[in-house]
Amino acid sequence: MERYAAAMSRPALPWTFDDRFVRELPADPETSNHPRTVLESAFTRVQPTPVADPTLVVGSVGAAAQLGLPPEVFDAPDFVATVGGNAVQPGMDPYSACYGGHQFGHWAGQLGDGRAITLGEVVAPDDQRIEIQLKGAGRTPYSRGADGRAVLRSSIREFLCSEAMHHLGVPTTRALSLVRTGDQVLRDMFYDGRAAMEPGAIVCRTSPSFLRFGTYQIFAARRDAKTLQKVVDHTLRWHFPEIDREAPDALVQWLCEVARRTAHLVVHWQRVGFVHGVLNTDNLSILGLTIDYGPYGWMDGFDPDFTPNTTDAQRRRYRYAHQPGIGAWNLARLAESISLLMEDPEPLQQVLDTYAATFGPAFLQMMLDKLGLKAGEREADAAFIDELMGLFRGTETDMTLFYRGLADLDVAEGEAADDRRLQQVSTSFYAVEAPQPLHRPSWARWLAQYAARVRSEASDPQRRREAMNGVNPKFVLRNYLAQVAIDKAEEGDDSEVEKLLQIVSDPYSDQPQTDDAYSAKRPEWARHKAGCSMLSCSS
Ligand code: AMP
Ligand code: MG
Repeated sequence: MERYAAAMSRPALPWTFDDRFVRELPADPETSNHPRTVLESAFTRVQPTPVADPTLVVGSVGAAAQLGLPPEVFDAPDFVATVGGNAVQPGMDPYSACYGGHQFGHWAGQLGDGRAITLGEVVAPDDQRIEIQLKGAGRTPYSRGADGRAVLRSSIREFLCSEAMHHLGVPTTRALSLVRTGDQVLRDMFYDGRAAMEPGAIVCRTSPSFLRFGTYQIFAARRDAKTLQKVVDHTLRWHFPEIDREAPDALVQWLCEVARRTAHLVVHWQRVGFVHGVLNTDNLSILGLTIDYGPYGWMDGFDPDFTPNTTDAQRRRYRYAHQPGIGAWNLARLAESISLLMEDPEPLQQVLDTYAATFGPAFLQMMLDKLGLKAGEREADAAFIDELMGLFRGTETDMTLFYRGLADLDVAEGEAADDRRLQQVSTSFYAVEAPQPLHRPSWARWLAQYAARVRSEASDPQRRREAMNGVNPKFVLRNYLAQVAIDKAEEGDDSEVEKLLQIVSDPYSDQPQTDDAYSAKRPEWARHKAGCSMLSCSS
């Protein structure tokens, strides 16, 4: 009660805005809110559509702190009204952005914020500008035929996963709050004609910017060099201040930096076993952040062909092993768009070269860090790692468990140690009779080589363990854990969402107080269950 009174006595949102995007970029002159093609404009002013009864499901104290808000803010009614889309605070100038994109390899034309509305760019206590955006806030001119809303299940997934990624050290947008709207939303979850009403929700997500590859593509596709130039100037000015905009190769420098960030982003995804699921060009951030959490998934049993997205089940364009290549493909589409502003597009080849030159060494280093090994001869290291991936696949290894356990692997010499090692790692195998006779000798051989290498490096064991456990999380947002939380929340019990948020907010610690189930193998019942291994774009 005291907390509540304190929150009521001052404005819930003592924010100052610095809306660089709306101030500098061309606005859609039309403000009527109906689906349409929007030309020569970066955005359209639009108000959130009010909802029946916004109530808070969960808030992120960390994301709030970044915006200068105390934990009590989540108790303040005007905060909930704002992040639920029912109140626009003084100083907010809400808008939806125009962008296009390649979806599953095909140019899709204008997409845009069909259900996202940015409320403003907050001046954060550290002087950063942070965009706050409601996802699921109602129709916009970019909604096409859809309803502008989001359902509770996918909103819980976006909220938890973006916070989990942040704490894993993976570049990402964040989530401030999640509210139920009190309205029902119609969704055909598996596009099989069984549409049903589901609870609606709104996530308030935050990012220094939601600019995407598709933001540039839409103007290039329309040969609208004038607007493209404005958006590019804006991007360089505010988001890449280290680049001299007057330099003759400024655009190439910029795209090379985007390539480096994208490469590092994908390396992070591969490190933690995250599969984005919909790496369309509209879902690639120009800042190299993970954005637009939809049918993403975490790999339980290692499978390079894994994609959680049922919409992509046939071609598996966005499977785990394809993410690095898709990063390059998307960068090529971005570079093509920017070539509209260049007399000689030849130097754009550097962008793809930079991506490859960044990704290769960064990936290898990341894998060595996970293994706790010093770099050796490059080709031999790569072959050693490839061999491990083959073993992972053969025994359907839980990579999270494997790597976390690796820091404690017995690295002694001798046959008895071989057996102990095999015993140790087999706790992370899903393949029921693992290791199969076929894999047993290969695993034993690989582990013996690994142990020999660790011995020969003679690093300080405690330091090595800490370093490994700093890159190998104990806790990731396993798909089935999120689904259990969703099932409970759909019954009105939000406690599991809150609990998961706490757990994924400290993923590298041992958390001795946390039930072992949260860091254990995925139970068999979740192997093929909807929501746990299969998701669609319907959200
Ligand atoms: P996504 O695959 O979630 O990144 O979305 C692709 C495009 O569809 C974006 O332009 C979204 O804004 C739009 N979209 C997705 N769901 C909805 C919805 N329920 N209402 C309006 N637009 C949507
Ligand atoms: Mg998207």
